[in-house]
Amino acid sequence: MLETCKSDQAYRRACQVIPGGVDSPVRAARAVGRTPLFLAHGEGAHVQDVDGNRYVDYVGSWGPLICGHAHPEVVEAVCRAAQAGCSFGAPTEAETELALEVRKACDAVEMVRFVNSGTEATMSALRLARAATGRDYIVKFEGCYHGHSDGLLVKAGSGALTNGVPSSAGVPADVAEKTLVARYNDSQSVADLFDRYHEKIAAVIVEPVAGNMGVVPPDPGFLLDLRALTLSEGAVLIFDEVMTGFRVDRGGAVRYYGVLPDLVCLGKVIGGGLPLAAFGGRAELMRGLAPEGPVYQAGTLSGNPLAVAAGLATLRLLQKPGVFERLVDATETLAAGIEGIAGRAGVPVQVNRVGAMFSVFFSDEPVTDYESACASDSQRYARYYRAMLEAGVYLAPSQYEAAFMSTAHTDHDIAFTLEQVERVMDEIK
Ligand SMILES: *Cc1c(COP(=O)(O)O)cnc(C)c1O
Repeated sequence: MLETCKSDQAYRRACQVIPGGVDSPVRAARAVGRTPLFLAHGEGAHVQDVDGNRYVDYVGSWGPLICGHAHPEVVEAVCRAAQAGCSFGAPTEAETELALEVRKACDAVEMVRFVNSGTEATMSALRLARAATGRDYIVKFEGCYHGHSDGLLVKAGSGALTNGVPSSAGVPADVAEKTLVARYNDSQSVADLFDRYHEKIAAVIVEPVAGNMGVVPPDPGFLLDLRALTLSEGAVLIFDEVMTGFRVDRGGAVRYYGVLPDLVCLGKVIGGGLPLAAFGGRAELMRGLAPEGPVYQAGTLSGNPLAVAAGLATLRLLQKPGVFERLVDATETLAAGIEGIAGRAGVPVQVNRVGAMFSVFFSDEPVTDYESACASDSQRYARYYRAMLEAGVYLAPSQYEAAFMSTAHTDHDIAFTLEQVERVMDEIK
């Protein structure tokens, strides 16, 4: 049995001053019937908890740590930036450097603005889209997550074409009402909304590869259909690449699928583990932002020098020859390995992978949208999670999250992980 008394004690202490003991709900690990581990160290592909247990990490801070924990070049860049001053609230040259890197990588980006979180990026992109079109309604997809701003905390009820039902208390009804929900991988459900809300829809926002209901790739044609529909209806197409940017491809989903949206939201990898996100796109749209245009958007710590330094160092590491290709190959080896082991053990799984992210759904049906994701056996995932943790592998504490690979995962880490999967699949079949 895993010895976790220090984590348990830290958790009880935290619960007295922090609601649920955590600063983001999924960390509490309730979906897998556990209490959280408190982590103390990270190095490369490994993390260590406060009791001294070591794990191979496939959470990677939920995506940002594509180069692993405490990569020496990232740490050095952050230290150098800190010594020069943690924050000025004035422009720095490094922001322009990073903006140029983003423009080079993201084919849809001519101009970009930096913010502090993915939540801010999507919220601001929508404001820009509404201002540009003079329309109020937006379309999102069931099972897609775009951060926790009011208008985006909405999913569908049972039907695909429901008007927004908030998935949190405290969201005003008239805000949720402006969010229309369509079905992922179902462009007809979007066309139907455009019919019903003719010339009222400002934007369609989508995770070009869904990652927040577990990894669900787009069907061939889905993203192209969204592009065609939004163009013909005069609506703005927003790819929320907060998870997929620099992850499914060095150029994100835009390059991987070759579909150009009007705006892109970035986060996670772009900050290399520090709080940084961005939204960007066509210059004509982006020039709508204050001080050039009428759309207000601001931030005391936006473009923070430490975060920008970590982001730049991370993106440059990914550009080294062969690095990204090896990362994707390693992810494929692991994902295919898990699929093979589960197959031999007779445990039905669906392994969805794009680039360096994947999900293992405990289901015997292909997972293509929210409904099919929800058909997975989350109780079996919980047993898998707990057994893998005991075995020294740190996974996301929910069936509906992606697993993230980093360039720090070695062949040895992958072999170790697959050995544990072999034992655990046998245990849970
Ligand atoms: C993580 C995520 C967000 C929210 O980003 P935060 O930095 O947590 O606010 C938004 N969209 C997608 C697709 C994400 O994966």
